[in-house]
Amino acid sequence: MRYVSTRGAAPVLGFEDVVLAGLARDGGLYVPQSWPTATADDLKRWSSLSYADLAVEVMRPFVEGIPESDFAAIVHETYAAPAVFHHAAVTPLRQLDANEWLLELFHGPTLAFKDVALQLLGRLFEYILRKRGERITVVGATSGDTGSAAIEACRDRENVTIIMLHPAGRVSEVQRRQMTTVPSANVHNVAVEGTFDDCQALVKAMFNDHAFRDRLNLAAVNSINWARVLAQVVYYVQSSLALGGRPVDFAVPTGNFGDVFAGYVAARMGVPVNKLIVATNINDILSRALRSGDYSRGTVQPTISPSMDIQVSSNFERLLFDLYDGDGVRIRQLMDDFSATGKLAIGNAQIARASGLFVADKVDEDETRATIAQVLKDSGMLIDPHTAVGVAAGRRLRSGPDVPLVTLATAHPAKFPDAVSAASGVHPALPPHMADLMSRTERFEILPNDLKSVQDHIAARAS
Ligand SMILES: *Cc1c(COP(=O)(O)O)cnc(C)c1O
Repeated sequence: MRYVSTRGAAPVLGFEDVVLAGLARDGGLYVPQSWPTATADDLKRWSSLSYADLAVEVMRPFVEGIPESDFAAIVHETYAAPAVFHHAAVTPLRQLDANEWLLELFHGPTLAFKDVALQLLGRLFEYILRKRGERITVVGATSGDTGSAAIEACRDRENVTIIMLHPAGRVSEVQRRQMTTVPSANVHNVAVEGTFDDCQALVKAMFNDHAFRDRLNLAAVNSINWARVLAQVVYYVQSSLALGGRPVDFAVPTGNFGDVFAGYVAARMGVPVNKLIVATNINDILSRALRSGDYSRGTVQPTISPSMDIQVSSNFERLLFDLYDGDGVRIRQLMDDFSATGKLAIGNAQIARASGLFVADKVDEDETRATIAQVLKDSGMLIDPHTAVGVAAGRRLRSGPDVPLVTLATAHPAKFPDAVSAASGVHPALPPHMADLMSRTERFEILPNDLKSVQDHIAARAS
């Protein structure tokens, strides 16, 4: 399997190079040259496999270049329970109502779905770097979830140093402590005296400083990395098989379109997906795009589901590439328009095509809170605000009572205790393996919002 850029002007690469490259050199995203298919026999055979064995089968056609036994070992180490994931099924289904389920993706080390992919990515980095005798410095900016999941993925990995910037005093205590209490020597946290946007601007400036970037071999772990999308395909297959292989509606709380794009990949592979319900909060660029072709940037409004407070959805470009039949020149033009004007008009034919599989809607703050309260009342389960956005949109847009509805539960409620207890009156407790989080020792450095200071700090720790 080879990978091409969505903008058609970057080198064609194999899997290992795609994992290390992140963004393609022409500014595009890497996608596989073709979609492998799972036959009815494959699906039947897969239905009795453990999560790890299924993950090997689903991902194998995409990872050419890594010997099969090596890849299987990496995958088994990643999806080990309880060493890494605190549930034997890794991503278990829980029934919510008649023909309605939650797919719990939050049993990893940081209690959010990003662990499912990042735990694999960290191990792939280590494997590939060891083979090549190279080192990388992972640098990122975070307002919450991504930072802790990336740190847990990279901690103690050979040949990897990770430095995470967060805005001082502007992340929740649970989220800060999940990052700053990791004692590993290769993990460094920097609290920047500024906002999240300042942190992002610093990271961008470091990537644009090519001398600095090359000297430290900077790498990113953001959701445009193909390996992250790939790892997420597995739980769509797993839950479809667990429900007997009937076509399923999946409701997906969405920000960067990574998770829901993985559902699209599962559908392209022949897994019986009925509808993909794209659920956004009031930051609704994706629901506008899929409903009317209007992909235009708004201003980000803060919500109680902060990991979806996004107005540019990077992975959406991967879907556009398919809707335009792999025409990289056209995608480059569309994305150039978008950078210049903040708008991109999707063709009617392309929207019509997308609507065969995707439906979309936004959920406002009141409805999100009401859904948390309703689910607790009806089913006795506490759900987090991101999951509530998915449940609300799923119930509104599902195909009908005969089609199973699976909503992706992307975070544990204890990650967002204030919003959950305000909506439900119940304070969500941290799970046992994290119960002492508030008393662990923190370690971070406070730096001014100044590029040179941050670069010097990073350079001193990277070598
Ligand atoms: C990142 C995140 C999302 C959005 O996922 P995308 O792949 O960016 O669409 C949803 N919920 C939670 C809890 C997240 O951390």
